[in-house]
Amino acid sequence: MINHLITQKNWQTQLSEAITSVDELLSILQLESMRAGVYVPKHFVLRVPRGFVAKMAIGDCSDPLLKQVLPDQQEQINVTGYVADPLSENTQNPVKGMLHKYQSRVLLTITGACAIHCRYCFRQHFDYSANMPTADAKEHIINYIKANPEVNEVILSGGDPLNVTNRRLFAWLDTLESLPQITTVRLHTRLPLVIPARLDTALLDRLSQSRCRIVMVIHCNHANEIDELTAEYLQRVRVAGVTLLNQAVLLKGINDTIDAQVQLSQRLFASGVLPYYLHVLDKVAGAAHFDSNEGAAIDLYWALLASLPGYLVPKLVRELPNKPFKVPMDIYNHS
Ligand code: SF4
Repeated sequence: MINHLITQKNWQTQLSEAITSVDELLSILQLESMRAGVYVPKHFVLRVPRGFVAKMAIGDCSDPLLKQVLPDQQEQINVTGYVADPLSENTQNPVKGMLHKYQSRVLLTITGACAIHCRYCFRQHFDYSANMPTADAKEHIINYIKANPEVNEVILSGGDPLNVTNRRLFAWLDTLESLPQITTVRLHTRLPLVIPARLDTALLDRLSQSRCRIVMVIHCNHANEIDELTAEYLQRVRVAGVTLLNQAVLLKGINDTIDAQVQLSQRLFASGVLPYYLHVLDKVAGAAHFDSNEGAAIDLYWALLASLPGYLVPKLVRELPNKPFKVPMDIYNHS
């Protein structure tokens, strides 16, 4: 019932009412006894919408959704090899607000804001304030794309591109559609999982009318993130003619079991979403405790291949700085 009341509110209200207090979160989940072990960061603070919290189990300190958002004391430990910018994105930033890492596509950081703060996020230290595309920067971005005719796809990311108003998002779509070289616009978003109501009729209508092919890559790490309501909204995205894919991050203690991965793929497929990538963790400072070792990741992947039809097995990849593509993990030479 509580979940029902929360998710009936409009998406902007749900966004503004997100929980930012550790005490409140622990109290809702009846986990006050965990308080001493929780860290309260000054930067990249706790943020989690109430509808996402409603998908967590009461009284379970190991809940896989809770572990993705609750700051842990281990974030303060400096671990060699885990750095602020693990993908060296600061060197692939030719124009303010844009990253150009791969040949035919560019990524625009149209907002630095997210509805939820995922503790393992590789962009948690990214300097969004220096990278907001202002009106001037927008013109530079357009000129850059025109000067690079091999670019045919634009990824709207962030932050979360669905965190901005429809008005702002549609203005970006209008601009991109006016460039004949752009055939595909991709949205990288976690909002459909954390506030499904963001997928409102106006948004879906606009996406369905686009001149470009629209791909929505959601970010779901665990089957529990997709309840009935979320699945219903995702099906609406499919009906709007949008290609729906998922990228997940392999997270120790959260989704690093064969059962968790099989259930995730099956739940996604039942909701109209195909698994796309399973990323091994980007080695960002503060997130080492989420990292599975590579051998365990590959063992898990072999088990996944044996358990699911090929179309439900995401590609196991690692993103490496300055590589022209996401690098598939070498599963054959592993002993
Ligand atoms: S929603 Fe995506 S960009 Fe935002 S904190 Fe989570 S992983 Fe990072």
